[in-house]
Amino acid sequence: MGRFFDPHIHMYSRTTDDYVAMANAGIEVIVQPSFWLGSPRTSVGTFEDYWEHMITFETKRAKDFGIEHFVCISVNPKEATTRPLAIDAIEPMKERYLDREKVVAVGELGYNLINDLEEEISVKQMDIAASRDMLMMIHLPHTNKIEAMNRIEKILDGKKYNREKILIDHNIEETIGKTLDLGMWAGLSVYPVTKLSPERATKIVQKHGSDHIMINSAADWGVSDPLSVPLTAERMKNDGCSSTDIERVTFYNAYDFFKHSSRFTWKP
Ligand SMILES: [Zn+2]
Repeated sequence: MGRFFDPHIHMYSRTTDDYVAMANAGIEVIVQPSFWLGSPRTSVGTFEDYWEHMITFETKRAKDFGIEHFVCISVNPKEATTRPLAIDAIEPMKERYLDREKVVAVGELGYNLINDLEEEISVKQMDIAASRDMLMMIHLPHTNKIEAMNRIEKILDGKKYNREKILIDHNIEETIGKTLDLGMWAGLSVYPVTKLSPERATKIVQKHGSDHIMINSAADWGVSDPLSVPLTAERMKNDGCSSTDIERVTFYNAYDFFKHSSRFTWKP
């Protein structure tokens, strides 16, 4: 067993049993990005209650199990569906939540269905993050990842974002090269269905090296596994990866990325 960091997990939709298993497996620190409610939101107030809940209640819940918890705040692309609600939610987000203790990034941003409203909401929040010199976590959609990647590249071309402060998540074999070539950090989500298996994630690291890559569980409402990070470490070990590579993608790279945030106060 090693020390693990899960840089993308939605504990809002998980149980205390998950926290026990995670602590027992060696997960020491987690980052929880803003997700969707599971059903449509009907007012700005429900965004605010959710952000407040993550920052305060969920941080304490994690702490009770010995796990350090940080948060990324955003209007998630899955919730960038109604105008003006999605736009209206950004104002209180800026005023009352982005500067809070434990908030280490703006995210998840990016695309779900890939449409103009999602892009408008995402770019608006990318600009807010850049103006505050904050980290960003950008989500690639489940389908059409390459189209999303091309759109992201175009956005990056037009503006001067600090790419060392951008994490592109849910990469697969076809997107990882571009994420790294563009100078950003790459997340690999290991998820029992619809995303990468531990085997596929291991092969990606064997091909591209361990620099700037981090494994996460993306555990949420779906059939997902909050132990994906330690599980992938075990797979990598069995497949002959070096302990340095394993430690980098399951612990230190996530630390190296998030320590760019002044509010990421945790140290290994
Ligand atoms: Zn997510």
